[in-house]
Amino acid sequence: MQDLRGKTALVTGVANKRSIAFAVAERLAQYGVSLAVAYQPADEDRDEKVRKIIGEISPDLVLPLDVTLPGSLDAAFATLKERWGRLDIVVHAIASAKREELGGRTSDVSLEGYVLAQRVSAYSLIELARAARPLMGDGGSLITLTYIGSERATHNYNVMGSAKAALEANVRYLAMELGPERIRVNAISAGPIRTLSASGIKNFLDLLHNAEEKSALKRNVTQEEVANAAAFLASSLSSGITGQTLFVDAGYNIWG
Ligand code: NAP
Repeated sequence: MQDLRGKTALVTGVANKRSIAFAVAERLAQYGVSLAVAYQPADEDRDEKVRKIIGEISPDLVLPLDVTLPGSLDAAFATLKERWGRLDIVVHAIASAKREELGGRTSDVSLEGYVLAQRVSAYSLIELARAARPLMGDGGSLITLTYIGSERATHNYNVMGSAKAALEANVRYLAMELGPERIRVNAISAGPIRTLSASGIKNFLDLLHNAEEKSALKRNVTQEEVANAAAFLASSLSSGITGQTLFVDAGYNIWG
């Protein structure tokens, strides 16, 4: 995609090669985007593995980023500012909730677990937008990842359903606010895909089979299909689109 050549992008949320963020970063790199790829730091061994995986895409920068850690986002953006002085694209592919609160009962969700899911999965988009804005003087594109459990009661999604609903609302409010600065904000609602996050959802295979059976295309989607949609939303091919949730789910959402 000629249009993306020479653009700069921060892609967050790479845990391993199955991560949606990894596929997005790979696709953007193929289109000539200069990349900063962020991962959540853990222990030395895991960090080394993740950095090695990310290294395969040859990004300009590999950044540790834990949105719950004070100063982590500021440090990442200070590095971006120093390296590029500008930013065109941000991909927010970050989510987290306690496993027991995904699989338990919504009426049993603790305040702590609720706040954690909202903090990491929804509020972090606002923080990223705030940090990115000063670097997006030429306009920009913010893209996040959501799931249909935001609008439909979905088995074993519970606390994350509320977080994704908040995330999608944040997309609309940020889009209105940043639109005059030519910064577009959109979400991709992906169908279920086997990733590390997905493995935290009880009976995830049932979710996959159900989506396959009920989707218009009678199959599940891949990370690469989500990455293609992200490239579209990052590029000027989508210049008239903001504040939207774009479904990449093989047509599951139109069912019933
Ligand atoms: P993933 O590979 O596990 O990616 C989620 C990422 O979020 C991981 O890199 C994780 O790091 C990171 N993260 C969690 N807490 C963080 C924090 N405090 N600070 C910074 N990063 C943090 O799974 P994925 O499926 O690709 O998820 C990417 C996005 O797609 C998520 O928003 C997810 O809800 C969404 N999505 C996924 C599906 C699906 O079926 N897979 C469907 C629709 C939407 P750690 O691994 O270190 O915790």
